[in-house]
Amino acid sequence: MQIFEQHESGIRGYCRTYPTVFSTASNARQTDENGKSYIDFFAGAGVLNFGHNNPAMKKAVIEYLENDGVLHSLDMYTTAKRSFISSFVDTILTPRSMDYKLQFMGPTGSNAVEAALKLARKVTGRQDVVAFSHGFHGMTLGSLACTANSYFRDAAGVPLPHVIRAPFGCEPVCQGCTQGCGLDSLHQLRAQFEEPSSGLPRPAAFILEAIQAEGGVHVASAAWLREVQQLAHDLGALFIIDDIQAGCGRTGNYFSFDGMGLSPDIITLAKGIGGIGTPLAMNLVKPEHDAHWEPGEHTGTFRGQDISFIAGTEALRYFEDDNLMKLTRANGILMRDALQSVADRFPKRGLQVRGKGMMQALDLGDGSLAKQITADCFAAGLLVGPCGSGGRVIKLIPPLTIPDEDLAQGLAIFTDAAISRLE
Ligand code: PMP
Repeated sequence: MQIFEQHESGIRGYCRTYPTVFSTASNARQTDENGKSYIDFFAGAGVLNFGHNNPAMKKAVIEYLENDGVLHSLDMYTTAKRSFISSFVDTILTPRSMDYKLQFMGPTGSNAVEAALKLARKVTGRQDVVAFSHGFHGMTLGSLACTANSYFRDAAGVPLPHVIRAPFGCEPVCQGCTQGCGLDSLHQLRAQFEEPSSGLPRPAAFILEAIQAEGGVHVASAAWLREVQQLAHDLGALFIIDDIQAGCGRTGNYFSFDGMGLSPDIITLAKGIGGIGTPLAMNLVKPEHDAHWEPGEHTGTFRGQDISFIAGTEALRYFEDDNLMKLTRANGILMRDALQSVADRFPKRGLQVRGKGMMQALDLGDGSLAKQITADCFAAGLLVGPCGSGGRVIKLIPPLTIPDEDLAQGLAIFTDAAISRLE
């Protein structure tokens, strides 16, 4: 499946999953240079929540460029940055009565996670962090240490910062998760921390995704998440939610944990917040923690791209009313039903459907089967991405703006491909 191993110009590159060269894209479709059109159920791993070349964002960016807007502003204030900040506060924070400082951490999600971990250590004066099974937090050393997948961690080739690992939600994953699932293991973890002879140092932070994406789409219950938050606070640790992939509307609410009674100390955001696909990463930090950083103590060159602020401000307009989120919830049910129909057809296979909103997944329990289905989908004109342990889960994350007919056609391609390989 690899192309471009050796390009004629001598430049080496690779293509992990899709052996073609894409040239144009619009909303939920990408077209390759041979003119073949593909429905996109991958959406740049959750970057393109509002579709490729979203017309309103494109228009705003072109206007900004035509007016010679500032493109690179570091920590300077620009009109683009100001619009983004005030829209974010008015549209997302104020209606939820959330009081947070915005820290731009661009360009990548890993940058945001790294900064969150660094701040938690500074605030608490402690070193260790608690992270959870199946979690994915990035590829830089600190974020990688918190990532569960040992294949990724071992690639570092050296010991990573020490992390205390705990089981995520109900582990092993049960069918039909109940509110009580996973609480026992949290109680055990609490007992370990509280038992002086255990030698377990109190952690700086607990970091987790409320809905794990790369790790195979695992959805934690609100009760379990609240218990983690309580444990973190009882231990004097920060509670960090990494909403880099599941946030920004993906699950049918702006935050994946909306309505669960959680108040994280830090929320990491990236991917979709830049709107059009240009990089932007940001941490929402409770004001009392933000005060721990003096100006200039945590810097970086590409933190806050003005084009991303312009497109990101347009993206926030989708959250001024509930229309897109209602559609996301309704389409999420359509997607789930389609996957469930595959699982129900093969009851002996033990297939699992998991997800929330428009992040839905089929756990095939078998990485090579998932790879074959991914390849069949590609041949039939659908882009999907495998995830989870050994790539055994196929995750569907189309743009939230996908037209009904593309969603229906994409689901039909996926279910046909899955059924033919499972029969
Ligand atoms: N956290 C989560 C939840 C992610 O899904 C990702 C990216 N897949 C990251 C962090 C890291 O983001 P980036 O690849 O932009 O560094």
